[in-house]
Amino acid sequence: MKEIFFNNELKLVPSKIICVGRNYAKHIEEMKSTPTKDPVLFLKPNSAIHPFEKPLPVPAAFGSVHHEIELAVCISKTCSSVSAEEAAASIAGYAVALDLTLRDMQSDAKKDGLPWAVAKGFDNACPISPFVETAAVKDADNLELLLKVNGRIRQQGSTRHMLFKIPQLIAYASTFFTFERGDIFLTGTPAGVGPLQAGDEIEASIESIGTFRTTCI
Ligand code: MG
Repeated sequence: MKEIFFNNELKLVPSKIICVGRNYAKHIEEMKSTPTKDPVLFLKPNSAIHPFEKPLPVPAAFGSVHHEIELAVCISKTCSSVSAEEAAASIAGYAVALDLTLRDMQSDAKKDGLPWAVAKGFDNACPISPFVETAAVKDADNLELLLKVNGRIRQQGSTRHMLFKIPQLIAYASTFFTFERGDIFLTGTPAGVGPLQAGDEIEASIESIGTFRTTCI
């Protein structure tokens, strides 16, 4: 099983990564999607975890692979059917993650009403930085996100534009999935998603967490 790190020391083993789609209005627009009444959730398995700064394998055989920069939240304790207040008190820390997506496969799946499991859950589909503790982030609802590819800005946004806020997302997800200590929640991506290919240099930053770089292979 793959591990995540806090300040490169404490190791935790996430049993799952729960993700939300359509959580920023401008990304919904660019995908020609529509907002939903409740959060749209999907999962990535533990095998999707990939240390951010290791060279990033980008599959070449399944159509386009898109980057989506996202604020990642780590859960500190078992929680099931919790309130938003309890959810807020169950956050261990934050990291910078990419929700890598096989976009062509996802588009085909959407057309046919099929699941996104492959498009979102393939090996290394969740590059993730070390986590910082909750106390290092003053206001998780107001953090700038920035993603550059080969030095050019592709995605720039702020967590203040999330449609569903973090405690609400975790509370909602916990109605269906019991979170275990170390589990991760990915909070959605702002606009500007686009394709990656071997040789691309990625630089991803989230305010208060850090700037992380990798090369696609
Ligand atoms: Mg996403």
